Amino acid sequence: MWKLKLCVILIVLFSVSKRINCEDHGYFWHITDTHVDQNYSRTGNVKDMCHEDANLAENNHGSDNGLYGNFLCDAPQYLVNVTIAAMKEIHSNPDFIIWTGDNLPHTDDFYSDWDVIFEAIRNTTELLTTTFPNIPIIPCIGNHDTFPPNILPNDNTSSNIYKGYLDKAGWKDLVNESEWSNFLTGGYFSQLVKPGLRIISVNTILWYIPNNLTSDVPDPGNQFQWLEAVLKNSSQSLEKVYIIGHVPPGYYNRAYKGGETSPTMHHQHAESFTKILLKYSPIITGQFYGHVHLDMFQIFQYDTGTFKGSSILAPSVTPWHTNNNNNITLPVNPSVRLIHFSHIDSKLLDYDQYYLNLTKANSMKKVSEDPKNLYELLYTFTNFYGVPDLSTESLVKVYEELKQNETAFDLFFTFLTVGKKSVDCDNDCQVAQLCSMSCITDSEYNMCFRSSSYVVKPKLNSVVLYFCVALMITVTIMVAFYMYKKIFSSSSRNEYTRFSSI
Ligand SMILES: [Zn+2]
Ligand SMILES: [Zn+2]
Repeated sequence: MWKLKLCVILIVLFSVSKRINCEDHGYFWHITDTHVDQNYSRTGNVKDMCHEDANLAENNHGSDNGLYGNFLCDAPQYLVNVTIAAMKEIHSNPDFIIWTGDNLPHTDDFYSDWDVIFEAIRNTTELLTTTFPNIPIIPCIGNHDTFPPNILPNDNTSSNIYKGYLDKAGWKDLVNESEWSNFLTGGYFSQLVKPGLRIISVNTILWYIPNNLTSDVPDPGNQFQWLEAVLKNSSQSLEKVYIIGHVPPGYYNRAYKGGETSPTMHHQHAESFTKILLKYSPIITGQFYGHVHLDMFQIFQYDTGTFKGSSILAPSVTPWHTNNNNNITLPVNPSVRLIHFSHIDSKLLDYDQYYLNLTKANSMKKVSEDPKNLYELLYTFTNFYGVPDLSTESLVKVYEELKQNETAFDLFFTFLTVGKKSVDCDNDCQVAQLCSMSCITDSEYNMCFRSSSYVVKPKLNSVVLYFCVALMITVTIMVAFYMYKKIFSSSSRNEYTRFSSI
């Protein structure tokens, strides 16, 4: 009888644990900045984005640019195929997928017209929808998804352009029909992905600083008006909201060679956006962006003096970097991110950062058929940083630790480039990282940048170590000097006398 009771208890416990696991804990993928380059060639000229050059007999002097890509070039199609296959292998049944833009390469020769853009985006749309049938996929427009790059107009041609994303890039399959009119107005839409959780996809290219077609327009595409209305509705319906977009608000963290970094959005648009984010911060439980190609997060005070929001920025699939024209970027290993969230209150719980070690993958003698052999877990956020979840409070704790602890900052900086650390982060770089992480408004940023207190303090162990080394050197010199004086003083004096007498 007792065996039967034990069995019943075990079954109940098992089913409860399964229920907790299945019902309470959700997952979604974040993929961003694929920058697929159809002209990538393993034998192409590495100084020209790994493109073949018909005028050069030997393009890259005989070396192989790599099957999976090269740090000086954008992603080959094969890398993107492997990445999406790995997502399927690692977690095949996510609640949804967010896809935050920039699908075209950083090359001028690819941009001949809008149809080329839509065709390229369609490739990835189809790859995602066939790999993950029946899983909601929420896209947004990147600054490299437009023709020409960085620009979207705010005139009567806009709606034709947005129609192109729906019809030609295949986004009709991703955006609910009820939202098509919003998308045609300004390239934005929202979607209830589960009861109580709405994802709002904003078109940040309308606010993006190089987009000079919208810089003087107070509300391009009436996006602020729409955003505020959706958030008001969500608030009344007791929904929680995730905002997704391509360009994050705030400042770049790219000042690796010193100097202040620049804001990402036009001043008036950044101001309007942050006002709305602050007003609805109690229901916005997550913000997700791409564009910077780096693994980082932002915590937002919105000029209130206390942290009221945060965002998580995912690193790119493309490994590309450049040092040209002062546009300094860092090479990164290709990556995708699996985010854990609560099905009960939509709180962000954790993420697993997966990556492909590009150097290792390219050096494999045999091509691996199993994407699981290529994409590995780099780290899990809560395990690594020792915080309970991805809430704003937890991110603030991590930020405070990074300011105080040199060892933690060094590891953060290694993860920033997804394990491909190519430079050390000096004081200017540390200020750029910490200020861009913690400031969203101009006044916060200016104050932060001028404050030397934001430079990471050496860890206590390091201070003690430096002190001990200095003490040992001093003692050694003193002992050596004493010994020298004691043993050689008379003979040295004689030698000196002898030479000076010549
Ligand atoms: Zn990008
Ligand atoms: Zn971008």
